[in-house]
Amino acid sequence: MAARVQRLSRSMLKTLRDDPADAETLSHKLLVRAGYVRRTAAGIWTWLPLGKQVLDNVSRVVREEMDAIGAQEVLLPALLPKEPYEASGRYEEYGQLLFRLQDRKGAELALGPTHEEIFTQVVKDQCTSYKDMPVILYQVQTKYRDEARPRSGVLRGREFLMKDSYSFDVSDEELAQSYALHRAAYTRIFERLGLDYRIVSAVSGAMGGSASEEFLAPAAAGEDTFADCPNCDYAANTEAVTTELTTVEGADQPPLEELDTPDTPTIDTLAAYLNVPASATLKNLLVKVDGEIVAVGVPGHREVDLGKLGEHLAPAEVELVTAEDFVDRPELVRGYVGPQGLAEHEIRYLADPRVAPGTSWVTGANKEGKHARNVVCGRDFTVDQYLDVVVVEPGDPCPKCGTGLRLDRAIEIGHIFQLGRKYADTFGLDVLGRDGKPVRVTMGSYGIGVSRAVAALAEQTADEQGLCWPEEIAPADVHVVAAGKAAQIELAVEVGDKLGAAGVRVLVDDRQGVSPGVKFTDAELIGVPQILIVGRGAPKGLVELKDRRSGERVELPVEEAIQRLT
Ligand code: ATP
Ligand code: MG
Ligand code: MG
Ligand code: MG
Repeated sequence: MAARVQRLSRSMLKTLRDDPADAETLSHKLLVRAGYVRRTAAGIWTWLPLGKQVLDNVSRVVREEMDAIGAQEVLLPALLPKEPYEASGRYEEYGQLLFRLQDRKGAELALGPTHEEIFTQVVKDQCTSYKDMPVILYQVQTKYRDEARPRSGVLRGREFLMKDSYSFDVSDEELAQSYALHRAAYTRIFERLGLDYRIVSAVSGAMGGSASEEFLAPAAAGEDTFADCPNCDYAANTEAVTTELTTVEGADQPPLEELDTPDTPTIDTLAAYLNVPASATLKNLLVKVDGEIVAVGVPGHREVDLGKLGEHLAPAEVELVTAEDFVDRPELVRGYVGPQGLAEHEIRYLADPRVAPGTSWVTGANKEGKHARNVVCGRDFTVDQYLDVVVVEPGDPCPKCGTGLRLDRAIEIGHIFQLGRKYADTFGLDVLGRDGKPVRVTMGSYGIGVSRAVAALAEQTADEQGLCWPEEIAPADVHVVAAGKAAQIELAVEVGDKLGAAGVRVLVDDRQGVSPGVKFTDAELIGVPQILIVGRGAPKGLVELKDRRSGERVELPVEEAIQRLT
């Protein structure tokens, strides 16, 4: 089947020599410079022609593998009524992360950050019997989250493309099967994309539920930290490791009275008080009060020295739970819920009957970066005592085999959860069971950051010259460069057409008045796997074939080059 031939003389493509001023990560710089994406507003991106092709390639691989496990594609709205999210409690819980709006009649709506509620309602409407199960539904859809720090280009957008899927089963065993199917599909997807990834155990975060694993792509630009055992197969998000490592006694400390003034309760002070090593990874902090865990990590801020904690901690990023909750019901350990979330945590903490009146909690910094002490329900709080801290550091023993753990940075590219019956309970999702009685449905939810995967791939594969795509994802298979005037351009176009006719996707740089040097630089920057140069040898029918990754070049007759590439 003939493939697409893109001629740059007829394409909208503008590459940039310089990095955008605000770009910190490699993928952000290169995707902008090579003309794949352009920033429209903070965390909001336009996908230009080359970028759109790469994005579509990722979506295609995801769709093929989802279809292969029997999942059915649907498309739900992104503009959502608030009621289902109120019913599940997430309308509140999401805090400022949720984009909220009103229609002309004043009805409140939200832009979907993830769709458990709506999928549950769809299945309740469509399925009535165990015979309808299992059901796996998925969509590739634009999601909205008002992220506190939309940095790093498309790695963390406020509008981004996600594949989200949801499984519905009538028993725990069948849920485990749906989960296993997803795990296998994700493995195939990330392998086909050419991503280096690890599967790590994770705590369930804001979704609720029990079993959960993350797919992490190791990269310096990543915002996640994971612990990896060099000896056995143990790998875990550091949030999860803390639950498995033994507690390190904080120290016999006097009450934290000195922290109990409006200006002093910085986390630096707290960390120093607790003798937490300054090198400790922020996310691994787990604080107990009177034997009860009241704070678990600081999701969203990774690899920040505890010494800098005061600077980075925003209220939403501390989670309060009781020890009992944490140990027996990990689903209660919620993740990041938005910059105003701490108040909700505090309220939950306060509402816990086990919290004695007069118990207090000192927050870190609020959104404006000011340190705040909590005053909720008209009460002021004082910290009694922080007893224990668990910190995961490189070299800590692996919970499985005792070998020293490694800590690495990574990008979260996928996340799979066994949700259980949380949403089915909320919406009363029952179907007729095998015994003729109604049975409550159990669910899983599974996400892949499609747009984020593009950036993660760029992070992992780029080199000094530019992007360097794996074949399946690249916007073309071959980039034909006409390095010369009319004769070269003519031959380049002819070669491009022949390759296209043979099913090879081609980009032909047939631009006039652009120097060969600029064309070569652009070809390296754009990152198509094979570069075919039509230059000086053209009159003799010779071309040069260059492998983008290895840089290896060979000169060969044009027909032979075409043969090699088809
Ligand atoms: P993160 O920890 O990076 O904030 P998350 O845990 O909040 O991600 P999930 O709710 O698990 O994200 O969503 C499923 C997937 O969607 C993630 O694994 C990630 O690949 C992607 N994703 C989440 N937030 C964003 C974002 N702001 N921009 C791009 N992709 C995202
Ligand atoms: Mg998030
Ligand atoms: Mg996460
Ligand atoms: Mg996640």
